[in-house]
Amino acid sequence: MTNGKQTILVTGGAGFIGSNFIHYIAEKYPDYQILNLDKLTYAGSLTNVHDVETNPNYLFIKGDIADYRLVSDVFAQHDITGVIHFAAESHVDNSIENASPFVFTNVVGTVNLLQAAKQSWEEKGELSERRFHHISTDEVYGSLENETDQFTEETPYDPRNPYSASKASANMLVKSYSHTHEMNVVISSSSNNYGPRQHKEKLIPTILSKALSLEPIPIYGDGQNIRDWLFVEDHCRALDLIYHQGAAGESYNIGGGNEWTNLDLTVKICLILNEMNPDVLDQASISSFQDLITFVDDRPGHDLRYSVDDRKIRESLGWKPNMSLDSGLRATVEWYSHKWEQVKI
Ligand code: NAD
Repeated sequence: MTNGKQTILVTGGAGFIGSNFIHYIAEKYPDYQILNLDKLTYAGSLTNVHDVETNPNYLFIKGDIADYRLVSDVFAQHDITGVIHFAAESHVDNSIENASPFVFTNVVGTVNLLQAAKQSWEEKGELSERRFHHISTDEVYGSLENETDQFTEETPYDPRNPYSASKASANMLVKSYSHTHEMNVVISSSSNNYGPRQHKEKLIPTILSKALSLEPIPIYGDGQNIRDWLFVEDHCRALDLIYHQGAAGESYNIGGGNEWTNLDLTVKICLILNEMNPDVLDQASISSFQDLITFVDDRPGHDLRYSVDDRKIRESLGWKPNMSLDSGLRATVEWYSHKWEQVKI
């Protein structure tokens, strides 16, 4: 990694994880210049980065990573020392409706960034020094059909919906730039994130938004699909370690150690809501938010279980999640209860 002034390009920094990451690094590395390149799709909001807007080392650039000219101009105009690439179409249900935007952003956008970074860093003679960190997902590995197996970094990709197929394609392009051009890349694949600033289309914000509006809380199928939950700040700490200390060309899994069926997780959140928002319950003729749970038709091809073996990052970089699910959910409920007017849009 280069030793001079750090200018990092964060893509998708107006989205959920990217904006949390920007807050994290702006506080931890106040000398870093942070460029946030985001198209501001329905999933991105400048409200998510409002707190850092006045930071003199922060710059927002509105743009589409699927536009090569724009991406290459960003590299020409700034001396970017590293890329942390979050930008993606990220909602599986949308990819089932229409996969095209997923290919443009997740595949074409990723190769545009790789190509522009390669070109710029090669010209500076720094191709193997400057880092390209690609943010991926455990969904690229497919679905586990039993309760004990886990995905390792060596598990072959077996994506089963258009979202995960586009993310797996992007991973392969990133790997190809490492092998072919000896670019200094790392890939991290995390389990489901939760926490502040997540778009309301995702499971936990949906549960919270419906519950706090006293509307039915929809649960796909019988609610027995299992996901592992990682608090977003724990993810940001892992990304910090991987970006700065991960070995070039390597992939790292990041897990939360919190596997729950969707139904059990929803019940747990309802019980927390009962405790933390009794005033909302008082307005309705129900005794528990659990009464709002409603089963709806399952998502087509709904993967049963994801679970990652994350011993590699734990053993080689000394990371582990700090937040318990209970504390993380309480912090999330607290945030949604107070910031609700902002995220409702
Ligand atoms: P998000 O949907 O909340 O945010 C995505 C951001 O990317 C938005 O700000 C959006 O405006 C921006 N964007 C979309 N298309 C763009 C384009 N063409 N050009 C520039 N910007 C564009 O996503 P998220 O949940 O924060 O996920 C971030 C990354 O982490 C994604 O790559 C996702 O695959 C990965 N990931 C997410 C989770 C999770 O649980 N949310 C888990 C594992 C991995």
